[in-house]
Amino acid sequence: MTEVFAAFLKELDVEELSVSCYMIMGEIFPAWTGKKLGLGPNLLYAALSKAAGISPDKIKDYLKQTGDVGQTTFLVLSNEKKSQSTFSSFFEPEPATDDEYSDSTSDVLIAGQLTIRQVYDQLKSIAGASGKGAQSQKIKNLQSLFSAATPEEAKYISRIALEELRIGIGEGIVRDSIAKAFDVPVDGVEFAFMVTNDLGEVAVASKTGGIESLKNRQIQINRPVKMMLAQVTESIESAFSELKNVAVEWKFDGARIQIHKKGQDVKLYSRRLEDVTDSLPDVADAILNAVDVTDAVLDGEAVAMDDAGKPRAFQDILRRFRRKYDVESTSRDIPIHVNLFDLLYADGESMIEKPLRERRQRLAQIVKKNAKGISVDEMVETDNPEIAYEIYEKALKAGHEGIMMKNPDSAYSPGKRGKNWMKKKPVMDTLDLVVIGGEWGAGKRKNKIGSYILACSDPINNIFLEIGRVGTGLSDELLDTLTEKMMTLIEAESGVEIKIKPEVVFEIAFEEIQKSSNYAAGYALRFPRLIQVRDDKTADDIDTIEKVERMYSGQKEN
Ligand code: ATP
Repeated sequence: MTEVFAAFLKELDVEELSVSCYMIMGEIFPAWTGKKLGLGPNLLYAALSKAAGISPDKIKDYLKQTGDVGQTTFLVLSNEKKSQSTFSSFFEPEPATDDEYSDSTSDVLIAGQLTIRQVYDQLKSIAGASGKGAQSQKIKNLQSLFSAATPEEAKYISRIALEELRIGIGEGIVRDSIAKAFDVPVDGVEFAFMVTNDLGEVAVASKTGGIESLKNRQIQINRPVKMMLAQVTESIESAFSELKNVAVEWKFDGARIQIHKKGQDVKLYSRRLEDVTDSLPDVADAILNAVDVTDAVLDGEAVAMDDAGKPRAFQDILRRFRRKYDVESTSRDIPIHVNLFDLLYADGESMIEKPLRERRQRLAQIVKKNAKGISVDEMVETDNPEIAYEIYEKALKAGHEGIMMKNPDSAYSPGKRGKNWMKKKPVMDTLDLVVIGGEWGAGKRKNKIGSYILACSDPINNIFLEIGRVGTGLSDELLDTLTEKMMTLIEAESGVEIKIKPEVVFEIAFEEIQKSSNYAAGYALRFPRLIQVRDDKTADDIDTIEKVERMYSGQKEN
């Protein structure tokens, strides 16, 4: 795949290059924008029915047959469109509403001659459409694409539009292909990707400026980088045998927050890299008051506190992160304290390649002590597991999750989950899995989706692997809200079985992991139950098959 994609990249001009890097992974925008197309299957079917000139019901019949959006698009356009294309082969694309997009959609789409750029421009217009008439504009944009595309092309356009492409190419293969196509070292591409969070930009830099250009990439303020992540450690001792000297911190029970400060301007990003600044004005004020440098990028955990100073339920902090109205009163009801634990950039200087120890020293220098709503969390460097145990007990007593054990000599690696950060929590770890399907309930659960089909990810091949079903842990109220949410994500139905666009993440507890040939993952969960819906995570953040395998082997050892 690397060979094929590298050869393809070589043929493209600069404009097509970045776009192709996103689309081959089934994405439309670079990760740092936090932007998704957010197109529901129903809208796509509406556009398809218009392009083919058939009723939405007929589209549903096709869907029942194929169970797949791409295949349905292909069949509908192959079988039904013929009569249409005879009277018009030119399509005026809908003008974009957003300025940023407006100049790019000027060319006319000619049937059978659709370019990569044109597909991208139409999809961008869809994302830019807002307010009154947005719905019909989106349908028109898609309709003009379907009308101009061949059935084979349209199959892939549908899958990309619903973020369902998954042809087995992920970030790793794109990175390697860029290196191969433009003859630059893989680690140069990797570094540039970590700091820019944009493989399209990295491809262009590689083509136009080679390794020098890659090396010159830097973290930029107001462009969030992926969060560095942690691996589960079986025991505190095993982390010490791995690292010897360990930097121990509390694992706070809250939500991750990346903070970008540029002068008096503060932007806040969630774990999904969404801009949550408007929901958290109190945090922005606290940062301005507490941080003593002009420009900074900081990493930390935002905790919702109760009156006794203990962390409140996870749903409370999420309510703060998502709040669009009554922000002020909600911030009074649910005050937030931010525990900063890392510094990525300070006044013109990138910190990510410096050791954690040094980053933390600088962090402590630039954040005022006893500031309201902000503190630098305590980090204790030790080679003694006993000390880590004491910190662990204290953290749990204070109502937090456990501890983080970090390598004090390690760099900050955006997006990486490795042994430089390890986490220890008391209970057996849960799995974050994405809902890919469901089943209509019977009896009391009639007209509700009564059970959900879950999948873990295989990031190397960029696919989801089914691992089981859950129907336990769902209250009637939750069943109602979940059903309502899933209704907008249903892609196909056959009997009681439903295929759902993979978007909603469930945190699942279980008794045990078993080997199983019933599911694509090769494993099944015994007695799975829903702990909570992880609204702070996307399908990109779910647990991997590698983690499932590790947990399975860990079980056998215990
Ligand atoms: P979890 O579901 O356990 O929160 P996760 O997948 O969100 O895990 P991990 O990288 O596995 O993320 O665990 C680290 C998470 O713990 C961070 O994303 C962050 O939100 C939280 N956290 C709390 N305290 C710290 C800390 N001191 N250092 C780093 N992360 C911390």
